[in-house]
Order: sequence, then C-alpha cells, then structure tokens
Amino acid sequence: MARVGFVGLGVMGAPMAGHLLSAGHSVSVWNRTPGKADSLVEKGAKMAPNLASLAENSDVIISCVGRSEDVDQVVSAMADCAAAGTLFIDQSTIEPAMARSLARRLAEKGLRFVDAPVTGGSMGAQNGALTIFCGGSEADVIEAIEIMAPYTKRAERVGEVGAGQMMKLANQVAVGGALVGLCESLAFAAKVGLDVEQAHSMIGGGAGGSWAFQNYGPKLLASDWSPGFSVKNQTKDFGYCESAAADLGLEIPMTALVNELLKRLADAGREEDTTAALYDVYLDRL
Ligand code: NAP
Repeated sequence: MARVGFVGLGVMGAPMAGHLLSAGHSVSVWNRTPGKADSLVEKGAKMAPNLASLAENSDVIISCVGRSEDVDQVVSAMADCAAAGTLFIDQSTIEPAMARSLARRLAEKGLRFVDAPVTGGSMGAQNGALTIFCGGSEADVIEAIEIMAPYTKRAERVGEVGAGQMMKLANQVAVGGALVGLCESLAFAAKVGLDVEQAHSMIGGGAGGSWAFQNYGPKLLASDWSPGFSVKNQTKDFGYCESAAADLGLEIPMTALVNELLKRLADAGREEDTTAALYDVYLDRL
C-alpha cells in the first residue's frame, strides 16, 4: 500500500480520501480550512501540519481543489519537498494548459504528473463510483488508476497530460445541455400549469430523461440547493470550455448560454448553490 497525501477535502476530496483509507492506504491529509480534516483523522488519516510535510511523507500526492490557480498554488508549494519520482495526481477540473505547465515544471524536478479530472458528482465520490479521464504517460496512468481504484467506476487513459482535462471539458459541455434540458423542461411544465412532480416522473422515465433528471430532479423538486456541484465550479468549467473552444475558433453556443444563465445565480450571491438552482432563474426566483 502506498503512502498517499491528499490535498483538498471539499465535497469531492473528503469522500475520495475516505475511500483510500478504507482500502488500507496510509493517508496524510491537508486542507486549507483545517476543521474539514477532522472526520478523516478520526478514521485514521494523519493530519499534515503543512503542504511541505505532506509532500515529504508521500509517494503519491492527490489534489482535488478548485481552479487552475489553486492547483498551481498547492502543487508549487510541494514541488521542492517531494522525493524524486513522486507521482502527482490532480483531480480538480482546470485548464489543460495549466496541467501541461505543471507537468513540465514537475518533470524538471524529477517528479511525475497525471491529470485525472472526475465526473459522477458528489454522489459518485461518496459511492466510490467516479469516471476518471486520465492524461499522462502510460506507466504513470497505470499507477494512478491503481491508486484511485477505491473510488473509481471507470478510469481510462485518454492521451498525454492535458488530454484528461480536455475530455472533462467535453463532458461538461454535455452536462450543461442535460442541466438546461431538465430546468427548462420542468420550468415550462410549471408555468403552463402542469404537476411538476408528475412531469419529472413521466418525462424522466422516457426519451427526455437523463442523469440530470434522476439525480438533480429530486433536489430541484425539494428546492434543495445544497452541494452538489456548485454554480461556482460549473461556471469555472464553462469558462474553460469557452476559452478552449475560442482557441480553436470553435463555437459552443449552448454552453455559452447555460453559462450566461448560471451567472445570473452567481450575481445574485448564489455561487455555492448546486447547479440545479438554475430552475430558479427560469421561475424568476433569484
Ligand atoms: P469544494 O467543495 O469547493 O472544495 C474545494 C476544496 O479545495 C476545499 O477543500 C478548499 O479548501 C480547497 N481549495 C480551494 N482553493 C484552494 C487553494 N488555493 N489552496 C488550498 N486549498 C484550496 O469543491 P469540490 O466540489 O470538492 O470540487 C473540487 C474540484 O473537483 C473542482 O475543481 C471541481 O470543479 C471538481 N469537481 C467537482 C464535482 C462536484 O460534483 N462537486 C464533480 C466533478 C469535479 P477550503 O476548505 O479551505 O475552502
């Protein structure tokens, strides 16, 4: 079993680190807000006093934080302290260019990097059933996939470093379509006077159904906007999709539209709400 260091114990990271512990790995954890590590420490994780110490005592370092600059910050703080050959696995959704830049900088220090963004949401993290898009050398990805196995439903190499993030962005384009399909459909049903629960059940079980209908639908019906995948993270990802598309002169109008609608929630101070709160934009309940 490897000595795994885990950085970022948010909605996704905490349950992922928990699965590593349950699988028998020796897990050190670090979180910017220390209280979030408590329940993992009770289950046997070691609390690292800082990132340098976590890096010194880990063979594999997994990060699941926020944006490109957050990953840059935490990885940079560890790069000088990790032993040569240490494998960095980043599971955050960030810009492919940042993943490539981190890999280059780590390689100069004899360190290895795999970008391994995930999909499957908070439920996938809790149930250990994430799909993981891996970018890196074949040998590094094989090693990363073995480590991540306790919380994986499906993990595959999709190309060199950065390709994992590109696949994740393609995934987010599809997620955006499913989300807007759910919210626009049920808001339409509500506005024309239909029973929304019945609409959710009947439409969700037919050709209009989707993962979003099954998983976000019940939250939407209960006006439960707890995380989930936050508006903050979704607009971050859509921004990355739009800039990757713009670099190629590619139009992704649906993604731009959903991003625009979600930004209305963010402007109303609802960045931490789960994305199904998009329903409230349609119902004018900001
Ligand atoms: P979250 O609940 O907001 O947690 C983010 C974590 O990152 C927190 O532990 C936070 O520390 C830490 N963090 C952020 N910036 C940091 C920095 N500069 N330095 C140190 N720590 C920092 O987010 P999440 O939902 O777990 O998402 C994490 C990543 O996974 C994101 O890239 C997201 O896009 C991706 N993702 C999320 C989901 C989902 O359904 N939630 C699904 C797929 C992918 P604090 O506790 O101190 O704030």
